[in-house]
Amino acid sequence: MIDDNHDSGESFRRFERMPGSWTSDTICAGARIDWQPVLAGLLEEIEIEPPLQEIVDKLSRGERLTKSEGLFLFDYEDLDAIGQIADAVKVSRYGEWAFFNHNVHVNQTNICVLSCKFCAFRRGRKATDAYAHDIDDFLEILRHYAPHVDEVHSVGGLHPDWKIEYYEKLFSAIKKEFPNLHIKALTAVEVKHISNISRLTVAETLRRLQHSGLGSLPGGGAEILNDSIRDIICKGKETSQEYLDIHRTAHAIGMPTNCTMLFGTIESAEHRVEHLLSLRRLQDQTAGFQCFVPYPYLPDSSRLPEAQLATGSEILRVIAISRILLDNIPHIKAYRMNLGDGISELALSFGADDIDGTVQQESIMHLAGSTTPLDHDREQLSRLIRDAGCIPVQRNTIYTRFSEYQTPAKKSWRLPMAR
Ligand code: SF4
Repeated sequence: MIDDNHDSGESFRRFERMPGSWTSDTICAGARIDWQPVLAGLLEEIEIEPPLQEIVDKLSRGERLTKSEGLFLFDYEDLDAIGQIADAVKVSRYGEWAFFNHNVHVNQTNICVLSCKFCAFRRGRKATDAYAHDIDDFLEILRHYAPHVDEVHSVGGLHPDWKIEYYEKLFSAIKKEFPNLHIKALTAVEVKHISNISRLTVAETLRRLQHSGLGSLPGGGAEILNDSIRDIICKGKETSQEYLDIHRTAHAIGMPTNCTMLFGTIESAEHRVEHLLSLRRLQDQTAGFQCFVPYPYLPDSSRLPEAQLATGSEILRVIAISRILLDNIPHIKAYRMNLGDGISELALSFGADDIDGTVQQESIMHLAGSTTPLDHDREQLSRLIRDAGCIPVQRNTIYTRFSEYQTPAKKSWRLPMAR
């Protein structure tokens, strides 16, 4: 269990495998403070291929990579070599640890006024399987999971009628009944929609929601931060600049957020690199992103036949390059609801240090074709992490409390001996 009786520094000091100075405020989010010289040492131990030498030298000196160097990595054939560099970056910050949290996903509604081409989740108001949970319904669902989890992740469609009062009442009711549950909810486009429909500014909206219990934003809806691509795949959604501004506003009121990238639709490598650098620039100014979550487009039931679906190698490449380029965002997450358990396990050797999560129930990715099991408990998830050669560390949502998860030994099954 997360150790509530210790501040995070104490919890970290209990781990003896990674000596060094540690911090766990919401900015460093558990990373080793002196990771830069550690990285230089780790990179010295890797046999570097000559074309990568210049990039590795820059990383060893603590210099960040440029757009053209990011593109070079997307073009570079040897994925293992890139993975080794990304792994060194990860290990320099977190050693063998891989983080997970104990959470549940509950969506408020699948009714949405938009119709993004990659979305298999949204429904029109009159669809037979459209739903919009009132507060009692939502709490009833949550009651099944709340005693066991420490985060509710809640996003949904853009409901045509729900103003800010619905969300204020929902978050207040959750906090009243489950005061220790962290509410991570609402993508940037939901925040924009709620502020528009309620005739409030984004800052007023976020402040009121924070006051009623919203703890952090999950980061969804970034897709690709390029407005020409957005006009094709998600017309009507917030613009790239609006996505960044909404997160900037959240950071300004002390609300941490995650950021994401949906890849494998119609974007080029250049769009991906520009996306990463936009996030890096904002993070330089606000330091409010805790985690970057890259995930590939899943095609079932959605309407984007022109999509260039990402292969397994490409997914690992995106994760590795994200780790290398995003030198100021603490965590890179392998989002197992989308990637599946197999790729997620591999991702932990390609720069990802976090794996989301126990989850319990999820529909957005599963309607789009995900077959990732939903019934993982902490024991199963920790086994997946240990099989990847890492140490499972349970964290809270905002990376301020940690505890190594002691995975029980596997049962050994014995067939009865023949007599
Ligand atoms: S991705 Fe979000 S905004 Fe777009 S259609 Fe789906 S639910 Fe609506």
